[in-house]
Amino acid sequence: MRKMPGQRIVELSVTPIPVHYRKELGKNAYGENIGRERTEWLVRARTEYGHEGLTIANRFMRQFNGFDNSGGTVRGLVALLREMFLDKRVDEYLETSDGRVVGVRDAYKEAFQTHGWMSILAFDLLGQDLGISCVDLLGGQARDRVPAYDTTLYFQDLLNPEQGAAQVSLEAAASRDEGYNEFKIKVGRPGRWMAPQSGMERDVEVVLAVREAVGPDAKIMVDANFGYDGRLDLLEDFIRETLTANIFWLEEMVTADVGDYRVLRRMRDRLGSDALLVCGEVDRDPPSQVFRDLVDQGLIDGYQPDSVSAGFSRWQSLEQWLKPTGVRSIPHNFGNGNFGTRATLVFGAASPTFASLEDERHHTNVYAEDDVSFADSQYSVPSGPGLGLAIDTDVYQKRYASHEVRVT
Ligand SMILES: [Mg+2]
Repeated sequence: MRKMPGQRIVELSVTPIPVHYRKELGKNAYGENIGRERTEWLVRARTEYGHEGLTIANRFMRQFNGFDNSGGTVRGLVALLREMFLDKRVDEYLETSDGRVVGVRDAYKEAFQTHGWMSILAFDLLGQDLGISCVDLLGGQARDRVPAYDTTLYFQDLLNPEQGAAQVSLEAAASRDEGYNEFKIKVGRPGRWMAPQSGMERDVEVVLAVREAVGPDAKIMVDANFGYDGRLDLLEDFIRETLTANIFWLEEMVTADVGDYRVLRRMRDRLGSDALLVCGEVDRDPPSQVFRDLVDQGLIDGYQPDSVSAGFSRWQSLEQWLKPTGVRSIPHNFGNGNFGTRATLVFGAASPTFASLEDERHHTNVYAEDDVSFADSQYSVPSGPGLGLAIDTDVYQKRYASHEVRVT
């Protein structure tokens, strides 16, 4: 039977899939130890001719506020998926022109704004229906390989106090031996977990030790998760004392605020740092006003709404807005599991200003091996239709199928 375009979605399911880190991850500036494991709330949608689209509903499931609310419950998720996807045609969500997605159809605009992760499922299904990659749907391939950074250098020194800063640099060296050449280091120890002055000193010590361990050619980024709020004096010391480490970007050093970013930008220039100033992962409805102001006033260089929570459709319109400003797309991807790595890879392959993929370096779990390879801190671009991502059905049956909830 010849497959007609616009297949109907006949089957959906939700399955919590565990995903494991290669090591224990410690604290960041504000939170307790991350630990070793997270969950991917896998959503599978099958069409009448057997195509399968995927996404994860982690953003929805994180909104849990008791079982008497529907947010964050499987019950609520199933109802949402039933309403949005069951018995719908895969070509009714997105507007296309010349094989590219140019917008969301009116009936789904609001839902895809609220639940951006659903737009990724719509892209995956449409791409498979048309037999083309989501990279093409997003505007076409902007690069052959997509750089990725190791994002697992948390406060590892506090997990292993006897090693101190050396613990972080040892882990960075191990990661470099496994092919990574870009590293993001959690800083912001003054905010909570250490006395402010010693926290800043430890931050400096860690950054310099990692630079020593990974060599002069690696990229080093730092992320303070606002740990320097109210301590711009200590932040100035931090930037000055890490100048020799040649930091590529400074992420969320303080909470987004026009006044503080004006001070930070001047400070950076005066000290002779050329690190990019980036932020925005906390923006749940991007672009919120303060980020519009930061962009309009030329105070930041990169914007970071989450790749899966914001989704492909929202990111497409963000990129339109950012294009004339020169501000780069640097989507946050932490907590999105192996699915997020693929979704961000696809987005990064198509985005002209994408900087680097936030890579949690998870062990493989439920996805089948495919043609994507990793070398020299870069991923190759998947060639399959849609996201080019498929479930390993044997593994799924054996390990996860018993937790599956059908959407009926
Ligand atoms: Mg961050």
